[in-house]
Amino acid sequence: MSTPAHRKTEKGEARMSREEILRKNKQYIFSCVTNFYTDPLVADHAKGQYVWDSEGNRYLDFFGGILTISVGHANPNVTGKIKDQIDRLQHASSVYPTAQAVELAEKLAQITPGKIQKSFFTNSGTEANEAAVLVARMATGSFDIVALRHGYSGHSQLTKSLTAMAPWRKSGVISVGVSHALNPYCYRCPLGMTYPSCGVACANDVEDVIRTATSGSIAAFLAEPIQGAGGFITPPKEYFKLVFNIVKKYGGLFIADEVQTGFGRTGKKWFGIEHWEVEPDIITCAKGMANGVPIGATLATPEVADGFKGLTISTFGGNPVTAVAARATIEVIEEEKLIENADKAGNHFRHKLEELQQKHALIGDVRGMGLMQGLELVKDRKTKEPAPAETNQFMERSRSNGLLIGKGGLYGNVIRLSPPLNISLNDVDEAVRLMDKSLSEMRN
Ligand code: PMP
Repeated sequence: MSTPAHRKTEKGEARMSREEILRKNKQYIFSCVTNFYTDPLVADHAKGQYVWDSEGNRYLDFFGGILTISVGHANPNVTGKIKDQIDRLQHASSVYPTAQAVELAEKLAQITPGKIQKSFFTNSGTEANEAAVLVARMATGSFDIVALRHGYSGHSQLTKSLTAMAPWRKSGVISVGVSHALNPYCYRCPLGMTYPSCGVACANDVEDVIRTATSGSIAAFLAEPIQGAGGFITPPKEYFKLVFNIVKKYGGLFIADEVQTGFGRTGKKWFGIEHWEVEPDIITCAKGMANGVPIGATLATPEVADGFKGLTISTFGGNPVTAVAARATIEVIEEEKLIENADKAGNHFRHKLEELQQKHALIGDVRGMGLMQGLELVKDRKTKEPAPAETNQFMERSRSNGLLIGKGGLYGNVIRLSPPLNISLNDVDEAVRLMDKSLSEMRN
């Protein structure tokens, strides 16, 4: 029914007005689900590298729905296959094997590093991490998990306890069997040291934590190769190898949470952890895996996967539509050489961001890999005092200038940049121009 609060699309369908959407959002959605911007942006439609809001404004999208849009919005090579699959078989559940689920699992076995070969499909990154911890505990017979400070692992009870940033762990989160080691945050070294003269001393904290805060043997160490929500914190190249050896010494499995770093995001490799030359026992993924279709996967070596005791089920896990979407996304990444593009466009982007840093004192640090680049904003480069208010202003200005960027970090002062992997150098230049404009306007 059309009311004054509704407007019509070109096709004559009734659509809610922006005001109505925002009112209902406040009235009917949990208020813990935060939105960006003081005046939230109501997303209406998207194509390629662009998103349009409900008022028809177009934005260049350099956040990609939180690192999820890998191959551009509404990519026809993905949406076409989804549409065909919906008409053929929308759902069967995991009690019936399907060609779509096993083809995806086979493809994943081909692109994952080391001996990883088996998949357990779910619907989100949270579930992927839940399953990873569960199977690690079953396969090793140990209980303790070591995760990293500033990490983010999901929205469930367990994954919130793996998360180590207070705003995401408020009241009600019970952490049993999870301990957190210092993270390799070179810009704000938790040990007050400087790389490389530090000898990557932070890695030893994993051993200290195991010896002091666990039973002395662990089920797993879980970490994001680059901490995403934590603010694109990128460990030095030696870090994960050192940690891997410690984890193995205490009988643990190595879980790489590739929810943000997987599927070519970091350039050159399919998975972020490959840059550190470590072969994980388990990889968890979601987000960019299916270009926005909800899917999660826990990928493991046969030995670990077959250590799962008893039965389990995920009704929607391996759903034929989401499985087809993921395989189509992986095929686009392969066929269009987007891992190479993430490296090439990422290097170009990084160079431009470093130039921007020279021009604007607010940018204290530039970090990341491939098309996962972060800017840490500080009030003063010497004191490194975080600049969360300026980060918000930068977000608002960029939006007014037609650019979508993300935000993160424990102190709310890290800009997260993650365009689609098929972004062109021209679009990168345009995004940097808009960021430069936005930062210059803030000084006036
Ligand atoms: N792990 C990481 C590294 C993430 O960034 C996220 C989501 N931000 C999750 C897990 C949880 O994924 P989801 O929101 O799909 O449950």
